[in-house]
Amino acid sequence: MLKKMINSAQIDFDIIPIDPLLIKSGQATVGGVDMSFVRTYRFGEKEEPFIPGSSLKGMIRSYSEKICRSLRDNPVPVCLPYVEPGKEQQGERGQASCGLSFEKYKKGHEVKTIASPKIYSLSCPACRLFGSHGFIGRFSTSDAYLTEDFKKTGSPLLEIRDGVAIDRLTGGAAGGAKYDLEVLTRGEFGTTLDIRNFERWQLGLVGLVLRDMEQGLVRLGFGKSRGLGKFRAKISRFQLTYYNRKVSHLSGLSELCSKEENKAYGFFAETGDKSPMPEPECNGLRYEYDLADTWKKVLEPVVRNLENDMKNAAWPKCLEDFLKGGK
Ligand SMILES: [Zn+2]
Repeated sequence: MLKKMINSAQIDFDIIPIDPLLIKSGQATVGGVDMSFVRTYRFGEKEEPFIPGSSLKGMIRSYSEKICRSLRDNPVPVCLPYVEPGKEQQGERGQASCGLSFEKYKKGHEVKTIASPKIYSLSCPACRLFGSHGFIGRFSTSDAYLTEDFKKTGSPLLEIRDGVAIDRLTGGAAGGAKYDLEVLTRGEFGTTLDIRNFERWQLGLVGLVLRDMEQGLVRLGFGKSRGLGKFRAKISRFQLTYYNRKVSHLSGLSELCSKEENKAYGFFAETGDKSPMPEPECNGLRYEYDLADTWKKVLEPVVRNLENDMKNAAWPKCLEDFLKGGK
């Protein structure tokens, strides 16, 4: 991806559980529990529960994919990251993984690499933002740790629940073998999202996820269909940074890059109303825009842009043509 810095977004938020939460540990279980909550030793202090950045990224990616799917039915505009090309089941046609498609192409054509602008331009919107095999993506999430504010007033509470009882309560699989879950019922975690070199629609998409997270509509971790994982996000910082340039309205890569770069990467056009930006704070080469109180309003025109972009997205045809044509 572009080797220069153009823009970035940093968003801080706290995760406040509403339902019990279970982020499964891959480690051997603690005290005989079948599924235990993931823990870490932070700064060599005592062990505490945390939420790995990869879990948060997975949650935001899959919710983003749902939003994209709801904006276009046929063909859907995003891939299924685990589906190999040629092995699509019924209902998965035209949705094979971008990353696995590139791997298959490389094997079939005996090439070692495909240029990164090419990969970007042929990838579905979700892979463009979150990455795929061999392409990192623009979006990262740091691990979420207990907030200092929470630690001042309380300590996290983990409880053992009977998994089968939870299933019966919610009408899930009945009569299964007995197993225990360790769930978190009290604790607040803070994290930061970082998006580097974003297209305008990508910020709109993340904004829609954040809105729903704020309203407790997104679930996290294990047992989403069993009444686990509901939480509320409290957003405390929403900052956009532009490198070595001041902008008057929210601009993404399409507007900030050259014609040649636009052609090579296939950035989506920035259409519709502009979003005025406040005065920035200048910090060396960085112009920093504080949108903590205004991000929803600023992103409104971007959301309409996103709807259009998803309707017009050339994916999956562009990828299918590339795989067929061999160019
Ligand atoms: Zn994809």
